[in-house]
Amino acid sequence: MWKIENKKNDEFLLEFEKLVIRPIFKIILDLKRLELESEKPLNINEEQLWKYTNTYKDQSLEVQKLISNLMKKKVSKIVLFDLVAKIVQEEGLLDLLKLYRLYINQNNKVHQKCYSLEIKNIPETFKILFNQFYYTAFFDNVDIWALIGKGEFTRKTFHENFKKENKIMVCPYCDIDTTISISNNSVEHFLPKSKFPFLSMNAMNLIPSCTACNKSYEGKGETTLSPITMPYNEQIGDSIEFKIDYLNGRITLNSDKNINILNYVKLLKLKERYSQLNVYIAVDSKMESLYSTLSQSPQLIGKRMYEYIELQKNSGLTFIVKNNIYEYLRYRKYLNTQKKNYKK
Ligand SMILES: [Zn+2]
Repeated sequence: MWKIENKKNDEFLLEFEKLVIRPIFKIILDLKRLELESEKPLNINEEQLWKYTNTYKDQSLEVQKLISNLMKKKVSKIVLFDLVAKIVQEEGLLDLLKLYRLYINQNNKVHQKCYSLEIKNIPETFKILFNQFYYTAFFDNVDIWALIGKGEFTRKTFHENFKKENKIMVCPYCDIDTTISISNNSVEHFLPKSKFPFLSMNAMNLIPSCTACNKSYEGKGETTLSPITMPYNEQIGDSIEFKIDYLNGRITLNSDKNINILNYVKLLKLKERYSQLNVYIAVDSKMESLYSTLSQSPQLIGKRMYEYIELQKNSGLTFIVKNNIYEYLRYRKYLNTQKKNYKK
């Protein structure tokens, strides 16, 4: 709901893309061409054939060292160069070129903050490469980042960079839960990595979120909807209308005017989540404490009030409070006059 940025992490992951993802993808293409030119079947791994490709030869010594190191890495009993060999054996050159273009296109689109992407068929081997090797095993591997030479990068620093940059400790997706506790933090793939493996390492597809937002039964999980907006695009919370039903202790949401926002609300199950009694109770107590502050500092009422409310953003539920504060003040005034009349 909050408009956010992810520049620092983007710099790190773009470096990973430049030094690891692109060269390995191009080595796969080079090996396929070598295989097509050769008369006898190639033995890619035993002879370390990747070292004879133009892409490998064109890299600096540091990058060559990095790639040779990664080619030997093992994830659930598969060695990376065996996986590369399997891809070269299984896919045709045209299909590989198509997949390379798709990988470039999808990453460009997401960097341009367009998230309404079509799901394409991607071979299982590439899912293993991007999700199990790059994202699960390499994302925060200290030795690999030492070879990349850009400084320390771990899941922990990923969260810290994001929080520092956005001064945010509340979940930017839902504005309900905070992400202060480490255990309440998830790195969430907005376009799920099971369907968009090529985006598994793109910082503009990664959002540090609360655990609930990352779970399919409570938040978005692996679901996708299109067309859609998301927090790297805009401050979605300002486009949602929140209504508080004080009599029944229930909150309702309206976002029906804009299909992108409507789909966002649906994807994160925000109507259901805001309608929980717990959320109502938390909103009510936040309203009450704001009311008591405003009664003591009436000079805050007016334009400055929204600034004041936004300053408290890290306790969550800011948008619903902003949306309803005037109505709440009227409602309390009404209760007070009722009380006075009763006393008379
Ligand atoms: Zn959340």
